[in-house]
Amino acid sequence: MLDTAVQIIQTLRAAGHEALLAGGCVRDFLLGKDPKDYDVATSATPEQVAALFPGARTVGAHFGVVIVRLGEDHVEVATFRTDGSYKDGRRPQTVTFSTPEEDAKRRDFTINGIFRDPVNERVIDFVGGLEDLRAGVLRAIGDPHLRFEEDRLRLLRAVRFATVLDFQIEPETWKAVRSHAAGIGDVSAERIRDELVKIFLHPHRLRGFDLLVGSGLMAHVLPEILTLQGVEQPPQWHPEGDVFVHTRLMLSLLPEQVSLPLVLSVLLHDIAKPATFTVDETGRIRFNGHDKLGAEMSAEILRRLKFPNDVIEPVTTIVEHHMGFKDVKKMRKSTLRRMMARPTWEDELALHRVDCLGSNGLLDNYEFMVERREEFTRQPVLPLWLVNGGDLIKAGFEPGPELGKALTAVQNAQLDGVVTTREEALAWVAENTGRMPGSHDSGGDA
Ligand code: ATP
Ligand code: MG
Repeated sequence: MLDTAVQIIQTLRAAGHEALLAGGCVRDFLLGKDPKDYDVATSATPEQVAALFPGARTVGAHFGVVIVRLGEDHVEVATFRTDGSYKDGRRPQTVTFSTPEEDAKRRDFTINGIFRDPVNERVIDFVGGLEDLRAGVLRAIGDPHLRFEEDRLRLLRAVRFATVLDFQIEPETWKAVRSHAAGIGDVSAERIRDELVKIFLHPHRLRGFDLLVGSGLMAHVLPEILTLQGVEQPPQWHPEGDVFVHTRLMLSLLPEQVSLPLVLSVLLHDIAKPATFTVDETGRIRFNGHDKLGAEMSAEILRRLKFPNDVIEPVTTIVEHHMGFKDVKKMRKSTLRRMMARPTWEDELALHRVDCLGSNGLLDNYEFMVERREEFTRQPVLPLWLVNGGDLIKAGFEPGPELGKALTAVQNAQLDGVVTTREEALAWVAENTGRMPGSHDSGGDA
């Protein structure tokens, strides 16, 4: 990847142009991290770039960006430019091709504005990025108020970079983020979603959560989270405090690596508690139905943020079932095994663990389920059934709900270990339904 970028830089230079590595790849290299992609900035115009690299994609040429492909690698090659005035709070109306210094200054944060010459191993810094990188400071380039006004996505990028790099946001930059927070509403749901995903998948997600709340951005991207503040819970179950405190605590207790559905479920699992809050005659606080309503609300919130169905569906399932763990010790094996057959099962268990640790700390149901997992681990999640619908029709059942019930019953007997062979299963059906398999003469008159 780096080799490809260097090759591109050398080709551009051989043709008389200046070319440098720019943006995130320089920042990550200086931090000793592996960049996920390489960007090249150059004095060559998009036409000149395209002429040097046949097959280059010029879709972004209007903004000075050409995608050069060499072998498997794609590298963005962008002409040094100055952005013209911004109209919609997101995109410049015009761009003018200009110098490396001007190009550095149109970038968002000083640590993202450093150039690197990988051929002569030199760093070119017009914006004080090196100093901020060393000090661990995230600082807007130029006047932070103007920069956030130009492009509101930078508000969330500030929180994201501070989170993943564990950097302090410079006070004037932070002040500007806070005063412009409402402007995030002008940014598309997809861009907001992508930033939230990067923040919450990162091990530093708790810091990201706090920055979102502290900046005022949470009120605009996930306002439902703020409604959890001040929602009291029964103190015997929730000594930690209100629903907001509980949710935040759970976030901090997750393992470093999580699936996206798991972390979103943690954020949203109690989202319906404010709406279902009641106090019964004995003075006990209840949230009846908050799991079901929470599942619906979660789906709606995630649809609003344009998450795909393969994220929305598991989150909805996890939230809907998150109260099921309280009864697991009383459940039949068959019920447990059906529960464990859900594709979301591991995430459900992981959520239950932090739900306990973030409240009363009682892990007995969690441990019970971990033991069941060990026990079932050598058996297929759901086995091949010993008898099927066809067998029951032969036993005299008409296709319909009664047959469905009988089939579930004999399958449960199998899951519970009551029947272990086909013969036993057929005998069980005969005994428990009063019908003898194979005795029904389907050809005769009733
Ligand atoms: P990542 O690791 O997420 O890719 P990155 O810094 O490379 O981080 P990109 O979105 O790939 O971020 O953008 C590449 C570079 O383009 C940035 O480093 C920054 O210099 C500039 N840039 C990106 N988005 C903006 C923006 N909204 N405003 C100003 N400059 C931006
Ligand atoms: Mg990048």
